[in-house]
Amino acid sequence: MRPAELVSTDPCTGDVIWTGPVGGVAAAVARARAAARNWAAAPLADRIAIARAFKAAVDRNAEELARLIARETGKPLWEARTEAASVAAKVEISIAAQAERAGERVSEAGGVRQLLRHRPHGVLAVLGPYNFPAHLPNGHIVPALLAGNTLVFKPSEQTPAVAAFMGNLWAQAGLPPGVLNIVHGGGEIGRELASADIDGLLFTGSAHVGAALARQFADTPQRILALEMGGNNPLVAWDVQDIDAAAALVLQSALLSAGQRCTNARRLIVRDGDDALVDAVLALRDRLIVGRPFDEPQPFMGPVISNAAADGLERGWAQLQAAGGHVLRPLLRARPDRPFLTPAVIDMTGCAASDDELFGPVLQIIRVPDWEAAMHAANATRFGLAAGLIGGDAALFDRFWAESRAGIVNWNRPTNGASSGAPFGGVGASGNHRPSAWYAADYCAFPVATLASAVAAGSLTVGLK
Ligand code: NAD
Repeated sequence: MRPAELVSTDPCTGDVIWTGPVGGVAAAVARARAAARNWAAAPLADRIAIARAFKAAVDRNAEELARLIARETGKPLWEARTEAASVAAKVEISIAAQAERAGERVSEAGGVRQLLRHRPHGVLAVLGPYNFPAHLPNGHIVPALLAGNTLVFKPSEQTPAVAAFMGNLWAQAGLPPGVLNIVHGGGEIGRELASADIDGLLFTGSAHVGAALARQFADTPQRILALEMGGNNPLVAWDVQDIDAAAALVLQSALLSAGQRCTNARRLIVRDGDDALVDAVLALRDRLIVGRPFDEPQPFMGPVISNAAADGLERGWAQLQAAGGHVLRPLLRARPDRPFLTPAVIDMTGCAASDDELFGPVLQIIRVPDWEAAMHAANATRFGLAAGLIGGDAALFDRFWAESRAGIVNWNRPTNGASSGAPFGGVGASGNHRPSAWYAADYCAFPVATLASAVAAGSLTVGLK
C-alpha cells in the first residue's frame, strides 16, 4: 500500500506548494537513536561549528526562505523576512545561552573537585505549530542539537514545505545523517511520535493538544516534556497620554500575523468613558490593509492559515455575539472559498465570554469602572502567557507587574514584543514551567553533579565498634 500523502497549499490561492509522504515515525526514531551516541560524544565545538554553518546557509537562502514562509502561511513578505532573520539569529543566541545555562562549573575544596556538567537526554521529538513554521521549531532544534540530542521533528501539517526547506539547510551545513529527522503528518502522527522510543518532547502549539500530550506522558515522568502553548492575553490601557501611539500599540498587539501569534492581545481593557482610545483604535483599524504576501503596497496582515481556521473563527465570532457582544467592527470574509478575514472588534463589557483562545484577528473590548476591576478582568483567564499595560506611570506599571499572572509582562510595548535574551513562556494553561528562548538550554540537557578526588579518600570516623 502506498503511504498517504500530505499536500500543502497556498492559503491565498489554493495552489499546491508541496506534497510528501505521511508517517515513518518508527524508522525516523531508529535513525535518531542510531546517531545519538556519536552526536552526543562529538566535542561541543564541532556541534557549534555545524550550527554556525547552518546560520550561514540560512543567511545565503534568507530571501528564498522568507518567500516560502510567506507563500505557505499567507503572512506578508515583510513579516516573513523578520522570521527568516530570527532563524539565523537564534544560533548565536543559543550558543551564548547554553554556555550560561548549561555550561560547566568546576571548583576545588580540600583536594576534592566539584564539577557541574550537562548531558543530553538522547532522542527528542519536536512538534511545531504553523504560525512561525521556521522560527518556533528552530527555537527548540538549535539548542537541542547544541546540547547533543538527536531529533525527530514533526512540523505542522499546514507548513511541511518550510520544514523540508529547513532540513535541507541543516544538510548543507554538514549535520551528520540521522541527527535531524523530519516526519510529516497531522495529530495522529504527533501522537504516534509521542508514544515512540523517545526521551522527551518539545512542543509548541495549542493548549488542548499540550494537555493531551501531558496525559500521554503521565506514565513516563522520566521523559522530559516542554510545552509552549496559547494565551488569552489582556492589554490594559490606563491614563493614556498619546492616543495615537496607544492605538498603534493596540493594533500591533492584537492583529500582527492576522491575530495568529500566541502573544497577541485578545482583550483590551479600558476605563469606562475612555472613548477617545477606542475611537482611535477603530479609526486606525479601518486603515489596515489585508492582502496577499507579495502585494504592493505591503499589507499589514494576510489571511488566516486555512478555510477550516476561518470557519472556526466565524463560529467563535458568532458565540461572542450570542453572549451579548456589541459589534464595533465585523469579522467579514470577502470570499467564502478563501480565508481572508477583516480585523474585528467587539465590545464584550458585562458579557460572559468564553476563555478559549480565538486565534485570529478578533479584539474584544472590556470597559471597567476602576483599576481593581481592570486587574480582575485581566487575570480572568486560565492562561498566563502575555499581558501589557499602555499608559500610567512607573508606579502603576509596578502594580500591574505585581498583580499580573503571566510570563511576559510589558509596558508601553506590544504584548507580542519579546527579547531573544530572555526566557519565553507562560503560566497557567500557557505552559508547564519550561520556558523556551534563553532558557531552552535548561530542558535540552540534564545536569550531572560530580565530586571527584584523584585518590580514594575513604575513612569511617564514627559509629564503629
Ligand atoms: P496545534 O496544537 O493544533 O498543533 C501543534 C502541533 O501539534 C502540530 O504539529 C500538530 O500536528 C500537532 N498535534 C495536533 N494534535 C496532536 C496530538 N493529539 N498529539 C500530538 N501532536 C498533535 O497548534 P497550531 O494550530 O499549529 O498552532 C497554533 C497554536 O499554537 C495556538 O494555540 C498558539 O497560541 C500556539 N503557539 C504557542 C506558542 C508559544 O511559544 N507559547 C508559539 C506559537 C504558537
